[in-house]
Amino acid sequence: AKSAGGNRYQFFSEGLNQKAQERAAIEAALREALKNDRLTLHYQPQLDLRDGKVVGMEALARWQDETLGAVAPNRFIPIAEQTGLIHELGAWVLRKACAQCKQWHQDGYLVSVSVNVSIKQMMQEGFSEMVVGTLLEAGLEPRYLDLELTESMLMEKAAESVALLRMFKSLGVQISIDDFGTGYSSLSYLKNFSVDRIKIDQSFVRDVTVRDDAVGIIKAIVAIGHSMGLKVIAEGVESQGEEEKLLSCRCDQVQGYLHARPMPAAEAEAFLERAQTS
Ligand code: C2E
Ligand code: CA
Ligand code: CA
Ligand code: CA
Repeated sequence: AKSAGGNRYQFFSEGLNQKAQERAAIEAALREALKNDRLTLHYQPQLDLRDGKVVGMEALARWQDETLGAVAPNRFIPIAEQTGLIHELGAWVLRKACAQCKQWHQDGYLVSVSVNVSIKQMMQEGFSEMVVGTLLEAGLEPRYLDLELTESMLMEKAAESVALLRMFKSLGVQISIDDFGTGYSSLSYLKNFSVDRIKIDQSFVRDVTVRDDAVGIIKAIVAIGHSMGLKVIAEGVESQGEEEKLLSCRCDQVQGYLHARPMPAAEAEAFLERAQTS
């Protein structure tokens, strides 16, 4: 029995070890990729549900590694968060996204850019100064930058977030609560958060054409948002049926494969051109 226990332990530790090695490999490769400017951004349009106009583009990080292949953000972002690389990565994403947004403005497309921000990154000393510096460097007006923060991250650091969000409000930077509805949310905090938009998580959108109660939930989220003067966007919209339900729920904006997948900057600009002339 003793040796079996020993084997079990060994098996367990080898499993752990393999995971740790894989993570270390990703960390090292990510460090290199950042240094050599090998990450890219894809952009996914956000449309006004009433007039179909493109109001913004969400920037999503992409990484195609020489040896690891395509690594999904759901894989490398958590590792970047755990290793502190998220600060460098986040600053890079912001710089790139702001410069791209300015370029679109110069080309005649007055859209916003949405950038995902990790709570670790936001809580780092000097974060707001970095954002201001990046906006100045890009020559982008603050109101065209939207920072997406997840509901669960904000609630985890609710007390600390309040002041930071107020500061962004005073700067004119937009704030969206990402993945709304998936975390535990306190309405009293929501009221204290200076945010501009809530983003209904795609899990609710997925249910909307198959379950009647999902429509009720979305209607309730939209009502809460509107009562606080916020815009409401739904993410992960894949079908016409879903979009019609969202419109009937008075949702303001949509984003999802129905309109476009996240795409390289040049394709995103082509989308803007088609949207404007159609
Ligand atoms: P997210 O912010 O919730 O982004 C939405 C995810 O849903 C994206 O996955 C997007 O490609 C995908 N998506 C968009 N439309 C549809 C649709 O109609 N159907 C389906 N099934 N999926 C759709 P992606 O690009 O793999 O990103 C995953 C997550 O990685 C993001 O979730 C975000 O939390 C994180 N992430 C990506 N880029 C960054 C970044 O630059 N910084 C930080 N901190 N996080 C990032
Ligand atoms: Ca997002
Ligand atoms: Ca989301
Ligand atoms: Ca998400």
